[in-house]
Amino acid sequence: MFITDDPKGKVYQDLLDFAFSVCDQFIVVIRKDINITKDASAVLESLAPFLIAKREQFEWPGTRLGTGRDYFGREAEPAIVYYFKTDHEAKRILLEVSNSLHSWMQPNLPEDLSFIKNQNPWLINSSHESVSYFETEDKDEIEKIMNIEDLQVRTANSIKNNIPQVYTDDSPNMKCIFCEKKFKEGDTVPESNASEIYFVCLNCMDNGLTVCNEDGKIFNEQLVNKDYLIIDKIQILKIEESDLLEYITNKFINMEEGGGVCSKKCFNSLYINDCIMHLQTYLALVSMDKESTSDLTNMIKGYKNIENILMNKINELKTYLSY
Ligand SMILES: [Zn+2]
Ligand SMILES: [Zn+2]
Repeated sequence: MFITDDPKGKVYQDLLDFAFSVCDQFIVVIRKDINITKDASAVLESLAPFLIAKREQFEWPGTRLGTGRDYFGREAEPAIVYYFKTDHEAKRILLEVSNSLHSWMQPNLPEDLSFIKNQNPWLINSSHESVSYFETEDKDEIEKIMNIEDLQVRTANSIKNNIPQVYTDDSPNMKCIFCEKKFKEGDTVPESNASEIYFVCLNCMDNGLTVCNEDGKIFNEQLVNKDYLIIDKIQILKIEESDLLEYITNKFINMEEGGGVCSKKCFNSLYINDCIMHLQTYLALVSMDKESTSDLTNMIKGYKNIENILMNKINELKTYLSY
């Protein structure tokens, strides 16, 4: 479950209250490549009574510095990860020195305040990327997280399906397609426009209905027979021994959750559109002068008439789209 907006003020406080009640440890990180101010050092000093361990690490929940070498092959320095007990007094300090989750960033504070429950990351926070998420399957915990007032969360599923998005903005032209626009199963959600932006509010998110990724129709995902979602005609574009569309085809053959589409027709349009996009990417790659890091791209670059071959296949694929 992802947090989509920086928890600030009261929300930050409620979130910390809950995290401290669930978790036994929290961590903060000091990266050696970014300076820290006196304030950041003072925070570490005041938390010292609750310190459990201090380790040099190349990775910690949510962030990875890599294998110890940077892009240029230079040796990188590990960061220092501080592990603390979730003591009530420690919480008071975290609330006093900061007013939001994403403000845990050098130079003014240590980085990436995150929480650990029984040795497992529970709330992971990468302030630089403004990404925070919970790792929990516990129904009771999930319910309590959802009940933190004004905390903006999205499930992984709602992010993967991408539309409808849960926006954090509550400007007056944001309209929930269910409770405000009263769209029903079978209706098609129009494109958002300047006067109305369509989304699904948190209350309506778990109503069992989904918006089709291909045609925008509202459907019940439970009622779609996934066995029926198969490719009508597998598309192939062979260059030498390689099928340029194999990657897309395999993705659709092995797709377990149906791709967020309402019907076999939409499943096939999504497949054809993905094939087109994939070939357009190849078309862009072969017309670049620079040598690619991919052997396949370099091979097809040298292939006679490759641009025409790609264009012809793209045009053929477009004729299969029936709208
Ligand atoms: Zn709603
Ligand atoms: Zn559809």
